Amino acid sequence: MSIRLASKQANRSTFKYKIGAALVKGSSILGVGHNEVNRYTKQWKQRWPGSLHAEESAILMALKKSGHAAIIGSTLYVSRITPSGELALAKPCSNCQAILKAFQIKDVHYTTPTGVEVMECR
Ligand SMILES: [Zn+2]
Repeated sequence: MSIRLASKQANRSTFKYKIGAALVKGSSILGVGHNEVNRYTKQWKQRWPGSLHAEESAILMALKKSGHAAIIGSTLYVSRITPSGELALAKPCSNCQAILKAFQIKDVHYTTPTGVEVMECR
């Protein structure tokens, strides 16, 4: 199940709140990612460089691997793991939601403390 792939990615994060994402279309995995220090803003030598969100990271990999056309109509899975290892709410932030919409991603499945919710990206 793709949400487990997202959880595996979340475990790669070095952040306290671990978030992972997997962009999937049919049976192919277009991209995966986890929240990490944003190496783009790091170059600007800010005191707090900010983070690259898991959703953005997965989309960046998919763009490099397959291009924008392949991303259209895909599904994004997002998982968040708390410091104690529990699943938590991984609903994409408003900025990521705007990105998902712009890339014409079909829907997003994200973890909650009790299961998985599905949201259309429009
Ligand atoms: Zn976000």
